[in-house]
Amino acid sequence: AMKPKVYVLDPYHKDAIALLRSTDWIDLILWDDSRKADWQKDAVGVMLRSDTRLTGSDFRLAAAAGNKLRVVVKQGVGVDNIDLAAAAAAGVAVHNTPALNSESVAEFSLALALSLSRRVTEIDRRVRQGEKVARSRVLGLSLFRKTVGVVGMGNIGRIAARKWIGACESRVLAYDPVAPRGVWDREQIPHTRVGSLEELLREADVVTLHVPLLDSTRGMIGGRELACMKDRSILINASRGGIVDERALLEELRRKRIWGAVLDAVEVEPPTLEAYGDFLELDNVIITPHIGASTIENQSNSGLAVVRTLLAVLEG
Ligand code: NAD
Repeated sequence: AMKPKVYVLDPYHKDAIALLRSTDWIDLILWDDSRKADWQKDAVGVMLRSDTRLTGSDFRLAAAAGNKLRVVVKQGVGVDNIDLAAAAAAGVAVHNTPALNSESVAEFSLALALSLSRRVTEIDRRVRQGEKVARSRVLGLSLFRKTVGVVGMGNIGRIAARKWIGACESRVLAYDPVAPRGVWDREQIPHTRVGSLEELLREADVVTLHVPLLDSTRGMIGGRELACMKDRSILINASRGGIVDERALLEELRRKRIWGAVLDAVEVEPPTLEAYGDFLELDNVIITPHIGASTIENQSNSGLAVVRTLLAVLEG
């Protein structure tokens, strides 16, 4: 009999691939295999990350080819690259790996903010260019005992709040109208819950975004919101590109009123000099290519979790 075909559409850690190979009942097709192009015809299982988009037409093609596709598993949290309604209509189960990469992403959001507050990337660039950097001319901003506004107190937001308190003795403001009241008390994160985004933006020295990309969060930080932010405040976006209006942010950064922004997620990924040259001319912004979850520890753990989920569905 033909073995069920599993397509791994985006690169996975070698530990995950080794676990897949250790089963003898799967026909495995990896991301660099040309057969990947026609996965809709015969895939039973699909593994991806956020590089590949699964559209309505992908799921309709799979259904038309005989409904073999049973499961899609995404490494990571955000599933905004998958047409969930089309998957449901085609009877395909969609899974992700919630909570597994939260520590890595929260850690990275702090690393980014501290890099920007102390101008690490800018000064390093200048040292590399051979400049004798005068210490008195590159003063940074201290984040000790400042106010950190966490937008979205889910898995990552809560860990980020804890890390800010531990690292900088921050006062934490939290905005999350979706989460039920009292849900964070158990975790003993000292914080003040605010009733509006505007209240948070007006008080926070650091604004850190940890919401999913939904219709309700798309463009939630636009020109009006940026104008509410304090002088010398910092915006961190390690969630999704569409959440911040990039044209409005560019204008705000050019004013040099807020301290700056750090972006691990942008609308056009990966960020290139062509698409983001206007931003990259500025010293008050740091852009990284969606690497919040990219640690050695995490890629192995999350990749293995994806394989275990996939095998459980196919064996069940
Ligand atoms: P989560 O689902 O645990 O938390 C999201 C929180 O946002 C929830 O508490 C929800 O109530 C809240 N929320 C929803 N709508 C909101 C709104 N309009 N205003 C305020 N809060 C709102 O998810 P998570 O694991 O914390 O991840 C958050 C997001 O981070 C993911 O959806 C993903 O897009 C992004 N992410 C990025 C990376 C990266 O590499 N940069 C890695 C993992 C996740």
